[in-house]
Amino acid sequence: MKPAPFIRHAPKTLDEALRLLAIYAPQDGRVLAGGQSLVPIMAFRLAKPAHLVDINDVAGLSEVMTDGKVLSIGACVRHAAFHKPVVDNPLGKLLSEVARHIAHYPIRMRGTFCGSLAHADPASEWCLVAATLEATLVARNTHGERLIAAADFFEGIMATALKEDELLVEARLPLLARDAKFGFNEFNRRAGDFAMAAALATYRLQGGKIVEARVGIGGAEARPRRIALGPDDVIWYTDFARGYLGRLDPATGKVTEWPSPSGPKSQPYGIVFTKGALWYNESAAKPNTIVRFDPKTEKFQSWAIPGGGDIVRNMAVNRDGNPVMANSLVNAVGVVTVK
Ligand SMILES: Cc1cc2nc3c(=O)[nH]c(=O)nc-3n(C[C@H](O)[C@H](O)[C@H](O)COP(=O)(O)OP(=O)(O)OC[C@H]3O[C@@H](n4cnc5c(N)ncnc54)[C@H](O)[C@@H]3O)c2cc1C
Repeated sequence: MKPAPFIRHAPKTLDEALRLLAIYAPQDGRVLAGGQSLVPIMAFRLAKPAHLVDINDVAGLSEVMTDGKVLSIGACVRHAAFHKPVVDNPLGKLLSEVARHIAHYPIRMRGTFCGSLAHADPASEWCLVAATLEATLVARNTHGERLIAAADFFEGIMATALKEDELLVEARLPLLARDAKFGFNEFNRRAGDFAMAAALATYRLQGGKIVEARVGIGGAEARPRRIALGPDDVIWYTDFARGYLGRLDPATGKVTEWPSPSGPKSQPYGIVFTKGALWYNESAAKPNTIVRFDPKTEKFQSWAIPGGGDIVRNMAVNRDGNPVMANSLVNAVGVVTVK
C-alpha cells in the first residue's frame, strides 16, 4: 500500500521546526526523524498524518556531546552512531553493545535514538537504556523547554508524556562510573527482530560486593522500567554454560548457586517466581519439561508438559498465582496445574 497524501515541511532551524509543529501538530501533523517506524505505519495507513515536519535538515540536532557527567544525544543522531563507543566511558561500550541488537544495518543507518524514545515501542532497546539509566529527556515547543525524567516519559505502549507540539530535542544519559560493569541480553526469535524481552544491568564491585546496581526490563510489560531493588530483593539468574541456577543478594553481594538437574547447556526459559518457588522450562535440555525449584528445601521437581513436543519460552503468572505458559512456537497458551 501507499501512504495517504501528505505535505512534507523541511525546516532548517529548530525555531522554524517548532513553529511548524505549533501550526500543524493540532492538524494531525507529525515529526519525521529516521522514518523507520513512522513510514511503515503510514504505508499500512495505520497513520495518515496530513503534514510531516521533517527534522533531518535542522542544524544542530545530529550531535553527541559530553560535559564529563552527561552524554547528550541530539534528535537526529542515528542508531549507527553508536556502533563504536561515542565516549571514553563504560557507557560508550554499553551503547555500542546494545546498538547491534537494533534491527538491521540499513535501519540503524536511518533510525534515530530520540525517534525510538518518542515512538516508545515497549520492546525498544533504547527505551530500556533510557529507563534503566534514568535518562533526562529534553522536550521543546514554541513556549519553551521542559525536562522529563525517563520514569515519567514512558506512559504505555507507544505512549509518552510528549505533548503533540513538542519535539524531543535531546536525550541525556548519565555517564557511568569508570569501574562500572554492565550486561545486556535480549531474547528474540531471529537476529534483528524486536526483542520479546530484554534486560539491562549495570553495577559496581566494591570489596567483592555489588553496589549501585541498576536492573531494567523491556518488552515484558507495556513500558520499560528500572526495577527498584529494595533491601530484601534478590536477583535470580541462570548460567547456561555451567548449567547452574543462581541467586544474588545485592545488599550483601552473596551468591548462592544450585546445579540444574539437566546439567550444563540447559537453558531455563520463562522463569517466574510464584508461591515461594521458581518455575521454568528447560527447553534446551528437556523440551517438554516444566521445573519447579523450591529455594527453602533446595529441591527440584519436574513435570512433563501435556501434549508436549514444543518449546515453552514464556511464562507468566495468572491471577491465582499459577504459572501460565505461553508457547511462542505454536502460539498456544496453557496453564500448569500441579496436584
Ligand atoms: C524491520 C524493522 C525492524 C526494527 N527493529 C527494531 C528493533 O529491534 N529495536 C528497536 O528499538 N527498533 C526497531 N525498529 C524501529 C527503528 O529502530 C526506528 O528507527 C525507531 O523506532 C524510530 O526512530 P525513527 O528515527 O525512525 O523515527 P520515525 O519513524 O521518524 O518516528 C517514529 C515516531 O516518533 C515520532 N518522533 C520521531 N522523532 C521525534 C522527536 N525527536 N520528537 C518528537 N517525536 C518524534 C514521530 O512523529 C513518529 O510518531 C525496527 C524497524 C523496522 C522497520
